[in-house]
Amino acid sequence: MATEPALSQDQRPTCSYSGCRDTCDHEQNFCFWHNPHADKSGDDIAGRLEELVRDGRSLEGFQLARANLKGLRLVPKIMDARVDLSKVNLYRADLRGAHLYKANLRQASLLKADLTGANLNFADLSFANLLGVKLDDSRMEHVQWGKILFQEQELKQGFIGHNPSRQLELYGEAEEVCRSVRRSCEAHGLFDEAGYFFHKEMTLRRKQYPLGSWQRWMSKLVDVLCGYGERPFRVFIFSSGLVLMCAMFYFMVGLGSGGEIIRFEFQVPWYTNVSNFLDALYFSVVTFTTLGYGDLIPLGPSRTMAAMEAFIGNFTLALFVVVFVKKMTR
Ligand SMILES: [Zn+2]
Repeated sequence: MATEPALSQDQRPTCSYSGCRDTCDHEQNFCFWHNPHADKSGDDIAGRLEELVRDGRSLEGFQLARANLKGLRLVPKIMDARVDLSKVNLYRADLRGAHLYKANLRQASLLKADLTGANLNFADLSFANLLGVKLDDSRMEHVQWGKILFQEQELKQGFIGHNPSRQLELYGEAEEVCRSVRRSCEAHGLFDEAGYFFHKEMTLRRKQYPLGSWQRWMSKLVDVLCGYGERPFRVFIFSSGLVLMCAMFYFMVGLGSGGEIIRFEFQVPWYTNVSNFLDALYFSVVTFTTLGYGDLIPLGPSRTMAAMEAFIGNFTLALFVVVFVKKMTR
Protein backbone atom coordinates (compact mmCIF):
# COMPACT_ATOMS: atom_id res chain seq x y z
CA MET A 1 0.00 0.00 0.00
CA ALA A 2 1.29 3.43 -0.90
CA THR A 3 2.20 5.58 2.01
CA GLU A 4 2.38 9.33 2.09
CA PRO A 5 6.11 9.90 1.97
CA ALA A 6 7.69 12.05 4.65
CA LEU A 7 4.45 13.85 5.35
CA SER A 8 5.36 15.03 8.78
CA GLN A 9 8.95 15.73 7.85
CA ASP A 10 8.53 18.08 4.90
CA GLN A 11 5.43 19.68 3.52
CA ARG A 12 7.26 22.43 1.75
CA PRO A 13 6.46 23.06 -1.95
CA THR A 14 8.78 21.88 -4.71
CA CYS A 15 10.88 24.19 -6.86
CA SER A 16 9.12 25.73 -9.88
CA TYR A 17 12.11 25.12 -12.15
CA SER A 18 11.09 22.47 -14.67
CA GLY A 19 12.52 19.08 -13.71
CA CYS A 20 13.76 20.18 -10.28
CA ARG A 21 12.41 18.19 -7.33
CA ASP A 22 14.06 20.15 -4.55
CA THR A 23 11.86 21.76 -1.96
CA CYS A 24 11.76 25.44 -1.26
CA ASP A 25 10.50 27.76 1.45
CA HIS A 26 6.83 28.69 1.34
CA GLU A 27 7.38 32.28 0.33
CA GLN A 28 9.81 31.27 -2.44
CA ASN A 29 9.07 29.73 -5.82
CA PHE A 30 12.51 28.26 -6.31
CA CYS A 31 14.96 26.08 -4.42
CA PHE A 32 18.23 27.51 -3.19
CA TRP A 33 20.04 26.68 -6.46
CA HIS A 34 17.38 28.00 -8.83
CA ASN A 35 16.56 31.08 -6.81
CA PRO A 36 18.31 34.08 -8.37
CA HIS A 37 18.01 35.99 -5.06
CA ALA A 38 19.60 33.36 -2.83
CA ASP A 39 23.05 34.37 -1.62
CA LYS A 40 25.75 32.30 -3.34
CA SER A 41 28.74 34.26 -2.15
CA GLY A 42 29.73 31.68 0.49
CA ASP A 43 33.03 29.82 0.29
CA ASP A 44 31.32 26.42 0.44
CA ILE A 45 29.36 26.81 -2.84
CA ALA A 46 32.06 25.22 -5.02
CA GLY A 47 32.32 22.23 -2.69
CA ARG A 48 28.56 21.72 -2.61
CA LEU A 49 28.36 21.84 -6.40
CA GLU A 50 31.17 19.29 -6.69
CA GLU A 51 29.24 16.99 -4.38
CA LEU A 52 26.02 17.33 -6.41
CA VAL A 53 27.89 16.47 -9.60
CA ARG A 54 29.55 13.47 -7.94
CA ASP A 55 26.03 12.29 -7.03
CA GLY A 56 25.07 12.52 -10.70
CA ARG A 57 22.84 15.59 -10.46
CA SER A 58 22.36 17.99 -13.32
CA LEU A 59 23.15 21.62 -12.58
CA GLU A 60 20.85 22.88 -15.34
CA GLY A 61 19.55 26.37 -14.80
CA PHE A 62 21.39 26.97 -11.52
CA GLN A 63 21.60 30.62 -10.51
CA LEU A 64 25.26 31.15 -9.65
CA ALA A 65 25.73 34.86 -10.29
CA ARG A 66 28.73 36.32 -8.48
CA ALA A 67 29.50 32.92 -6.92
CA ASN A 68 33.01 32.18 -5.77
CA LEU A 69 33.86 29.10 -7.82
CA LYS A 70 37.63 29.49 -7.89
CA GLY A 71 39.32 26.18 -8.69
CA LEU A 72 35.96 24.38 -9.11
CA ARG A 73 36.55 20.74 -10.11
CA LEU A 74 33.48 19.07 -11.53
CA VAL A 75 34.06 15.34 -11.88
CA PRO A 76 30.97 13.53 -13.23
CA LYS A 77 29.64 10.35 -11.65
CA ILE A 78 30.00 8.41 -14.90
CA MET A 79 33.46 8.69 -16.36
CA ASP A 80 33.73 10.76 -19.55
CA ALA A 81 30.14 12.06 -19.26
CA ARG A 82 29.44 15.73 -19.77
CA VAL A 83 28.67 17.71 -16.64
CA ASP A 84 25.36 19.44 -17.31
CA LEU A 85 25.78 23.17 -16.77
CA SER A 86 23.31 24.21 -19.47
CA LYS A 87 21.37 27.44 -18.92
CA VAL A 88 23.42 28.15 -15.78
CA ASN A 89 23.69 31.79 -14.83
CA LEU A 90 27.34 32.51 -14.10
CA TYR A 91 27.15 36.30 -14.27
CA ARG A 92 30.37 37.73 -12.82
CA ALA A 93 31.18 34.35 -11.29
CA ASP A 94 34.77 33.75 -10.26
CA LEU A 95 35.78 30.63 -12.19
CA ARG A 96 39.52 31.18 -12.15
CA GLY A 97 41.35 27.91 -12.64
CA ALA A 98 38.06 25.97 -12.81
CA HIS A 99 38.09 22.51 -14.36
CA LEU A 100 35.28 22.63 -16.91
CA TYR A 101 36.62 19.92 -19.20
CA LYS A 102 33.86 18.63 -21.51
CA ALA A 103 31.24 20.63 -19.57
CA ASN A 104 27.91 21.29 -21.25
CA LEU A 105 27.53 25.06 -21.02
CA ARG A 106 24.89 25.41 -23.73
CA GLN A 107 22.82 28.58 -23.33
CA ALA A 108 24.71 29.39 -20.13
CA SER A 109 25.26 33.01 -19.25
CA LEU A 110 28.95 33.68 -18.75
CA LEU A 111 28.43 37.42 -18.83
CA LYS A 112 31.57 39.02 -17.37
CA ALA A 113 32.58 35.71 -15.79
CA ASP A 114 36.25 35.29 -14.98
CA LEU A 115 37.58 32.13 -16.63
CA THR A 116 41.25 33.01 -16.32
CA GLY A 117 43.30 29.83 -16.35
CA ALA A 118 40.19 27.61 -16.60
CA ASN A 119 40.18 24.35 -18.53
CA LEU A 120 37.51 24.51 -21.22
CA ASN A 121 38.84 21.74 -23.45
CA PHE A 122 36.01 19.98 -25.31
CA ALA A 123 33.40 22.15 -23.56
CA ASP A 124 30.16 22.94 -25.36
CA LEU A 125 29.63 26.71 -25.42
CA SER A 126 26.88 26.81 -28.07
CA PHE A 127 24.55 29.80 -27.61
CA ALA A 128 26.33 30.76 -24.37
CA ASN A 129 26.45 34.46 -23.62
CA LEU A 130 30.15 35.26 -23.73
CA LEU A 131 30.00 39.03 -23.46
CA GLY A 132 32.84 40.39 -21.35
CA VAL A 133 34.11 36.94 -20.40
CA LYS A 134 37.77 36.73 -19.38
CA LEU A 135 39.58 33.90 -21.16
CA ASP A 136 43.24 34.71 -20.46
CA ASP A 137 45.41 31.61 -20.16
CA SER A 138 42.36 29.35 -20.30
CA ARG A 139 42.59 26.11 -22.28
CA MET A 140 40.20 26.01 -25.21
CA GLU A 141 41.07 23.10 -27.48
CA HIS A 142 38.16 21.55 -29.37
CA VAL A 143 35.57 23.85 -27.81
CA GLN A 144 32.17 23.71 -29.50
CA TRP A 145 31.41 27.35 -30.17
CA GLY A 146 28.12 26.76 -31.97
CA LYS A 147 27.12 28.15 -35.35
CA ILE A 148 25.73 31.40 -34.03
CA LEU A 149 26.38 33.44 -30.92
CA PHE A 150 23.87 34.10 -28.17
CA GLN A 151 23.38 37.67 -29.41
CA GLU A 152 22.86 36.51 -33.00
CA GLN A 153 20.28 34.01 -31.82
CA GLU A 154 18.42 36.78 -30.04
CA LEU A 155 18.47 38.85 -33.25
CA LYS A 156 17.32 35.89 -35.30
CA GLN A 157 14.42 34.88 -33.10
CA GLY A 158 13.02 38.37 -33.33
CA PHE A 159 12.23 38.66 -29.62
CA ILE A 160 13.33 42.27 -29.72
CA GLY A 161 10.82 43.10 -32.46
CA HIS A 162 11.36 46.21 -34.53
CA ASN A 163 13.84 47.99 -32.34
CA PRO A 164 16.73 49.29 -34.47
CA SER A 165 18.75 50.68 -31.57
CA ARG A 166 18.58 47.38 -29.65
CA GLN A 167 19.46 45.54 -32.86
CA LEU A 168 22.52 47.73 -33.31
CA GLU A 169 23.47 47.15 -29.70
CA LEU A 170 23.25 43.36 -30.10
CA TYR A 171 25.37 43.46 -33.27
CA GLY A 172 27.92 45.54 -31.36
CA GLU A 173 27.92 43.09 -28.46
CA ALA A 174 28.28 40.11 -30.81
CA GLU A 175 31.20 41.85 -32.52
CA GLU A 176 32.85 42.43 -29.14
CA VAL A 177 32.44 38.75 -28.23
CA CYS A 178 34.01 37.68 -31.53
CA ARG A 179 36.92 40.05 -31.04
CA SER A 180 37.75 38.86 -27.55
CA VAL A 181 37.35 35.16 -28.41
CA ARG A 182 39.42 35.69 -31.58
CA ARG A 183 42.22 37.29 -29.56
CA SER A 184 42.22 34.45 -27.03
CA CYS A 185 42.30 31.90 -29.86
CA GLU A 186 45.23 33.71 -31.49
CA ALA A 187 47.09 33.75 -28.18
CA HIS A 188 46.60 29.98 -27.89
CA GLY A 189 47.65 29.28 -31.47
CA LEU A 190 44.13 28.17 -32.46
CA PHE A 191 44.32 29.88 -35.85
CA ASP A 192 41.42 28.11 -37.55
CA GLU A 193 39.07 29.24 -34.79
CA ALA A 194 40.67 32.70 -34.80
CA GLY A 195 40.05 32.97 -38.55
CA TYR A 196 36.45 31.89 -38.12
CA PHE A 197 35.81 34.50 -35.42
CA PHE A 198 37.62 37.20 -37.39
CA HIS A 199 35.34 36.62 -40.37
CA LYS A 200 32.31 36.73 -38.06
CA GLU A 201 33.59 39.88 -36.37
CA MET A 202 33.92 41.70 -39.71
CA THR A 203 30.50 40.51 -40.91
CA LEU A 204 28.90 41.75 -37.68
CA ARG A 205 30.65 45.09 -38.02
CA ARG A 206 29.31 45.39 -41.57
CA LYS A 207 25.77 44.89 -40.31
CA GLN A 208 26.16 47.93 -38.09
CA TYR A 209 26.77 50.24 -41.06
CA PRO A 210 23.64 51.93 -42.43
CA LEU A 211 21.96 50.10 -45.30
CA GLY A 212 23.26 51.34 -48.65
CA SER A 213 26.24 53.20 -47.14
CA TRP A 214 29.52 52.94 -49.04
CA GLN A 215 31.25 51.35 -46.01
CA ARG A 216 28.70 48.57 -46.08
CA TRP A 217 29.17 48.07 -49.82
CA MET A 218 32.95 48.09 -49.58
CA SER A 219 32.86 45.65 -46.69
CA LYS A 220 30.55 43.33 -48.64
CA LEU A 221 32.88 43.54 -51.65
CA VAL A 222 35.91 42.55 -49.55
CA ASP A 223 33.86 39.68 -48.11
CA VAL A 224 32.83 38.39 -51.54
CA LEU A 225 36.34 38.88 -52.91
CA CYS A 226 38.36 37.16 -50.19
CA GLY A 227 36.21 36.66 -47.04
CA TYR A 228 38.12 39.42 -45.21
CA GLY A 229 41.39 37.70 -46.01
CA GLU A 230 40.25 34.38 -44.52
CA ARG A 231 38.97 32.60 -47.65
CA PRO A 232 41.61 32.25 -50.40
CA PHE A 233 39.22 30.03 -52.31
CA ARG A 234 36.83 32.95 -52.78
CA VAL A 235 39.56 34.82 -54.71
CA PHE A 236 39.82 31.81 -56.97
CA ILE A 237 36.04 31.67 -57.50
CA PHE A 238 35.89 35.40 -58.19
CA SER A 239 38.77 35.14 -60.72
CA SER A 240 37.14 32.23 -62.53
CA GLY A 241 33.83 34.09 -62.68
CA LEU A 242 35.47 37.20 -64.07
CA VAL A 243 37.45 35.27 -66.69
CA LEU A 244 34.30 33.47 -67.83
CA MET A 245 32.21 36.64 -67.92
CA CYS A 246 34.82 38.51 -69.97
CA ALA A 247 35.16 35.51 -72.31
CA MET A 248 31.39 35.72 -72.97
CA PHE A 249 31.76 39.42 -73.73
CA TYR A 250 34.64 38.88 -76.22
CA PHE A 251 32.71 36.03 -77.80
CA MET A 252 29.70 38.27 -78.45
CA VAL A 253 31.61 41.44 -79.45
CA GLY A 254 34.45 39.86 -81.35
CA LEU A 255 38.23 39.41 -81.43
CA GLY A 256 40.67 39.84 -84.32
CA SER A 257 42.99 37.11 -85.52
CA GLY A 258 45.14 37.85 -88.57
CA GLY A 259 42.40 39.80 -90.42
CA GLU A 260 39.64 37.36 -89.40
CA ILE A 261 36.99 38.12 -86.80
CA ILE A 262 36.31 35.51 -84.14
CA ARG A 263 32.83 35.80 -82.60
CA PHE A 264 29.47 34.17 -82.21
CA GLU A 265 27.70 33.68 -85.58
CA PHE A 266 24.20 32.37 -86.31
CA GLN A 267 25.01 30.94 -89.74
CA VAL A 268 27.99 28.75 -88.85
CA PRO A 269 27.87 25.15 -87.51
CA TRP A 270 27.76 24.77 -83.70
CA TYR A 271 31.28 23.34 -83.47
CA THR A 272 32.69 26.49 -85.05
CA ASN A 273 30.97 28.53 -82.34
CA VAL A 274 32.38 26.22 -79.66
CA SER A 275 35.84 26.65 -81.12
CA ASN A 276 35.33 30.44 -81.23
CA PHE A 277 34.20 30.49 -77.60
CA LEU A 278 37.29 28.52 -76.57
CA ASP A 279 39.40 31.11 -78.39
CA ALA A 280 37.60 33.87 -76.49
CA LEU A 281 38.20 31.99 -73.21
CA TYR A 282 41.88 31.61 -74.08
CA PHE A 283 42.11 35.34 -74.82
CA SER A 284 40.37 36.10 -71.51
CA VAL A 285 42.87 34.01 -69.51
CA VAL A 286 45.81 35.56 -71.36
CA THR A 287 44.43 39.05 -70.63
CA PHE A 288 43.59 38.27 -66.98
CA THR A 289 47.13 37.06 -66.31
CA THR A 290 48.49 40.03 -68.36
CA LEU A 291 50.51 37.61 -70.51
CA GLY A 292 49.54 39.38 -73.75
CA TYR A 293 50.88 37.05 -76.49
CA GLY A 294 49.29 39.16 -79.21
CA ASP A 295 48.01 36.26 -81.37
CA LEU A 296 44.45 37.46 -80.73
CA ILE A 297 43.59 41.14 -80.47
CA PRO A 298 40.56 42.88 -78.96
CA LEU A 299 38.32 44.86 -81.30
CA GLY A 300 36.07 47.86 -80.55
CA PRO A 301 34.46 47.65 -77.08
CA SER A 302 36.52 44.52 -76.35
CA ARG A 303 39.54 46.79 -75.95
CA THR A 304 38.03 48.63 -72.96
CA MET A 305 36.93 45.32 -71.46
CA ALA A 306 40.39 43.79 -71.97
CA ALA A 307 42.08 46.78 -70.31
CA MET A 308 39.75 46.48 -67.33
CA GLU A 309 40.20 42.73 -67.09
CA ALA A 310 43.98 43.08 -67.11
CA PHE A 311 43.82 45.71 -64.36
CA ILE A 312 41.50 43.66 -62.12
CA GLY A 313 43.48 40.50 -62.94
CA ASN A 314 46.73 42.03 -61.72
CA PHE A 315 45.09 43.16 -58.52
CA THR A 316 43.32 39.83 -57.91
CA LEU A 317 46.46 37.74 -58.44
CA ALA A 318 48.31 39.89 -55.92
CA LEU A 319 45.38 39.56 -53.51
CA PHE A 320 45.39 35.79 -53.89
CA VAL A 321 49.08 35.59 -53.00
CA VAL A 322 48.59 37.79 -49.92
CA VAL A 323 45.54 35.88 -48.63
CA PHE A 324 47.04 32.47 -49.41
CA VAL A 325 50.37 33.19 -47.72
CA LYS A 326 48.62 34.75 -44.70
CA LYS A 327 46.47 31.65 -44.25
CA MET A 328 49.26 29.15 -44.81
CA THR A 329 52.14 30.62 -42.82
CA ARG A 330 50.71 31.06 -39.34
ZN1 LIG B 1 15.24 23.99 -8.13
